Amino acid sequence: MATIPWLVDVLRGAGVQVVVEGDWLNRMRPGDFNPIGVLWHHTAATSSATNPHPALNVCINGRSDLPGPLCQALVDYHGVFHVISAGRCNHAGSARASGPIPAGDGNTMLIGWEIDYNGVNQEMTTAQYNASVAATAAVLKRLGRDASYARGHRETSTTGKIDPSFIDLNKMRSDVAAKMAGGTPAWTSTVDNSTAGRFTASANWGTSTYSTQRYGADYRFADPVAASDAAWYKFNVPATASYRVEAWWPANAGYNAATPYIVSTTTGNRTIIVDQRATGGQWRTLGTFTLPAGDANRVAVSRWSSAAGLVIADAVRLTRV
Ligand SMILES: [Zn+2]
Repeated sequence: MATIPWLVDVLRGAGVQVVVEGDWLNRMRPGDFNPIGVLWHHTAATSSATNPHPALNVCINGRSDLPGPLCQALVDYHGVFHVISAGRCNHAGSARASGPIPAGDGNTMLIGWEIDYNGVNQEMTTAQYNASVAATAAVLKRLGRDASYARGHRETSTTGKIDPSFIDLNKMRSDVAAKMAGGTPAWTSTVDNSTAGRFTASANWGTSTYSTQRYGADYRFADPVAASDAAWYKFNVPATASYRVEAWWPANAGYNAATPYIVSTTTGNRTIIVDQRATGGQWRTLGTFTLPAGDANRVAVSRWSSAAGLVIADAVRLTRV
C-alpha cells in the first residue's frame, strides 16, 4: 500500500498553514491507496472563529458506523490544514465516474479534504476556499495530474451526497488550474442579502426562508411598486475593468416575471430584466460590464416592475473577466 508521506511538506511549500495531528504517518485504514485526485467535502458541522474545527475529533477517530480516519486533512474555519493521515481514509466510499476519475473505490483513488462548515446555512469561509485551492493545486502537481482531477464529493457519490455546498466546482477547478499555472485566480466576490455591511434594503423588504433554492440562510422579498425602493449590493471593486455580473434567486410561480436588476457602470446605470419565476437556485449571468474601481453600491434589485409577483433579492456575484 502506498502512502503520501510528502503531504505536509507539499502543503507547507504551497504556503498552506499546517497542523500535524499526532501519528499521521501511521494512521490509516487497511487496504489499497494509490491516489490520482483530490476530493472536496464539507463536514456538516458548524464552525466559527472561536470553534474553528468542531469535526476534527470525529475525522480522526471516526464514528460508530464508520471507523476513522475519515480524511487525509481537515480544513478549519481559518483555512488551517489539520493533517490526519498519510494513507487510505474512509471519506469517498465507492465512486461513480466523474471527469477523469473512473468509477471504483474512491478511498483508493482520492485524497480527501474535509472542509469544516455546515453547508446548510453556513458557507465555506474565504480562508478555507483559498487554502483548499492552494493545497489542491500543490497536491495535483505532486501527483502529476491536472486540475480536472479535483472533484467534489457530490460529483462522485453513489449515495446522493451534496457536499461541498455553495461551491461552483467548475470555478474551483479553474482556480486550481490558475494556481497550478502560477497565475492568480480571477478576482471574484459574492454578496448575499445576509453579507454584513454589503446589502441594504428598506424595511419594506421582508425576509424569507421559504424556497430551498435560496443562496445562504434566507432571502428578501417585496411587492412590486412604482417607486424607487431598491435593494443594493455593495462591492469593493479592485480596478476599473470588465466584470461578469451574475445573480442568484430562488424561483417560484408566485415571484416576479420582470424583475429589474440595475448595474452601476462607468457609463451610467444599466437595467437588465429577468424572470424570477424560472431558472432559480443557480447563478444567472446578467452580462459583462465595465465597473469603476472603489467600494460602492454596484448592483441593485428594483421593486419598480411592470409585472405582478414578489420581487426577490438574494445573492449577486462579480467576477473580473
Ligand atoms: Zn463528503
